[in-house]
Amino acid sequence: MWPAIQELMEQFKEAVIVLDGQGEIAVVNQAAQVHLDQLGVNAAAALLGGIDAIRVIRAPARISVSSILPELPPAIRDLDAISSGLPVILSIRTLENFMYISPAFENIFGRDSSELLRDPDAFHELVHPDDREMVRAHLAADSAGAEQDYEFRILHPSGAIRWMRVRVHPFFDDWSKQLLVAALTEDITELRQRRGRKRAGAEKLLPLESTVEFRKALEQSVDQWRLDPASACYFAVALIDLVRFRAVNDSFGYAEGDRLLKETGRRIRQALPTRDHVSRFGSDCFAILLRSSTDTFQAEELVRKILMSVSAPLELGQTPIAIVARAGLASPSGIDCSADSVLRDVDAALQIAKQRREPLVVSSPALPAKSMERSSLEFDLARALDQDEFFFEFQPVFDPESGKVKMLEALVRWRHPRLGVISPASFISLAEDSGLVLRLDMQGLERLGRQLDSWRILDPRIAALPVSINISGRHFPGFAMENQFHSLLRSPALSQSTIIFEITESVFVESSHRTAVGLERLRSAGVQIWLDDFGDGYSSFRYLTHFPVDGIKISESFVKQCVSEPKVRVILATLQSLARGLGVQTVVEGVETREQFETLKTMGFDALQGYYLARPMAAKEIPSLFGSARPKASPRKRSA
Ligand code: C2E
Ligand code: CA
Repeated sequence: MWPAIQELMEQFKEAVIVLDGQGEIAVVNQAAQVHLDQLGVNAAAALLGGIDAIRVIRAPARISVSSILPELPPAIRDLDAISSGLPVILSIRTLENFMYISPAFENIFGRDSSELLRDPDAFHELVHPDDREMVRAHLAADSAGAEQDYEFRILHPSGAIRWMRVRVHPFFDDWSKQLLVAALTEDITELRQRRGRKRAGAEKLLPLESTVEFRKALEQSVDQWRLDPASACYFAVALIDLVRFRAVNDSFGYAEGDRLLKETGRRIRQALPTRDHVSRFGSDCFAILLRSSTDTFQAEELVRKILMSVSAPLELGQTPIAIVARAGLASPSGIDCSADSVLRDVDAALQIAKQRREPLVVSSPALPAKSMERSSLEFDLARALDQDEFFFEFQPVFDPESGKVKMLEALVRWRHPRLGVISPASFISLAEDSGLVLRLDMQGLERLGRQLDSWRILDPRIAALPVSINISGRHFPGFAMENQFHSLLRSPALSQSTIIFEITESVFVESSHRTAVGLERLRSAGVQIWLDDFGDGYSSFRYLTHFPVDGIKISESFVKQCVSEPKVRVILATLQSLARGLGVQTVVEGVETREQFETLKTMGFDALQGYYLARPMAAKEIPSLFGSARPKASPRKRSA
């Protein structure tokens, strides 16, 4: 079946079954597959009767498309047949032109699509003037291969303003060069109105101020401060941003998302003295005006307290969710400061907190320059992917008993033409925010295959070691680019070695049935799934029983205290024995000293990793770990 259609269908939360002209099932998405698995394929006929949760689309012509590009012209005819039943617009374009716009465009935009097919720039005229710049920026990112999801307004010929939500998927050829951009656009005007009504209702319950009131209070504080900066009228502004709030909305629905916002607002308000102000800024951000603190030290302490209270777990749809929040903090910097300049400073501090994944960053004169650096890095990232400026270092992981290398972890680095080698801590969150991390990880897996091939020739003992690669949580729920990953994993370069995907717990916290299915498919393709940074955030062994996990990497945060704190050793021993009971392997990471190594060595973990044992090193240095002997090549089959 045509992979592009399959991927698009996966975007629907409801089950979608597409029938061909003979009434046979042509495309089934995963949500539909669940029903089919439960009911048996023969019961599919019963579904045609119209179970509400299932959308059946009848295509008048038989669908017989096997690959995307060579057959595009005939495929486009078939696309019309499939998409005519969909209440969303399916569009496909190259980097220059629209190739296809489905019939729903006429209904939703109230116009004929032929002009757009002739002149893609005509699209900007249809967008609400206030959103044009934002849409232009998104279109530029589409062309750079970003997977995106955003909302904008259009001008309907009736004079109405309508809201669109567009989800954009890039498609790549075998070398990860982008070929096509497919987009699904739906009219969410009614949904937003409903959401708005609900939110207005919810907001009434929130003891928060409107942004207008907030701004007025901020301007007052700025005026007082400018009159007499030396007096006791210190103030500061904090912005608190909920990380991946949208994923919570997508996984648990808007009602639960609203509940989470309401609870967050309540927790912030509760932690603050009454003189301080709180307001919602945008969909998942809160602004706080701190007037009761007497200096930045006090303000910082208060914001840290708020972050702790915001991230205490909350039950959403019976799943305990610990939302991660990041904060920026700024106080007035000079006599010519204004409400806008303080807001700009605090936003720059927040952006850096998000980039560095730190809970709180306090604004300082050096920061605005850094945020400029970030935006230029963001621009460079797309180019760097095209030029493949990335490479791996490998960190060995050791068997504590024998002292032998047990596996390798691939850690990406960026060889930037101007800035030199950049560590992933500076660009992964950037790549995640722009959606480019999907391409980055995909290229990483290809690079790993090439590396394994060259080790196979040089010293097959290395290629026989399991190798782990970090995979961003942005591939989930479901598993974006699953088809491309699977075809790579089947290649001889990768299928002869044991490949481990290291993913973080956030994938499970925001998980769905689709996550579990995607992970299970990877495992049946021979990949091991390991949980990274276990112990950071809200760890739960429940994930290990609900999701297919082969191993855990216990966070370095435990290691730091394992020598001095007997309690931490008890926690570690418990983790080790629970994991063993569940048949899950354990690696402890971040071992930096001999004392830590000696303590952990006796505790029965399967492997240890850290600077004390070995730092990440260039691929060409790995053979030195094995001495000079080179046994004859004997490719080992994957053992997962
Ligand atoms: P991680 O998966 O937790 O990787 C371990 C990080 O800890 C690495 O930093 C490693 O160099 C460092 N490390 C190892 N031993 C020690 C130690 O004893 N002490 C200390 N303080 N650190 C140690 P690195 O290479 O900067 O990677 C940072 C993070 O970037 C990784 O954290 C991983 O989440 C992410 N990352 C790395 N490569 C990739 C990739 O190819 N794709 C994606 N999506 N993420 C990646
Ligand atoms: Ca890792």
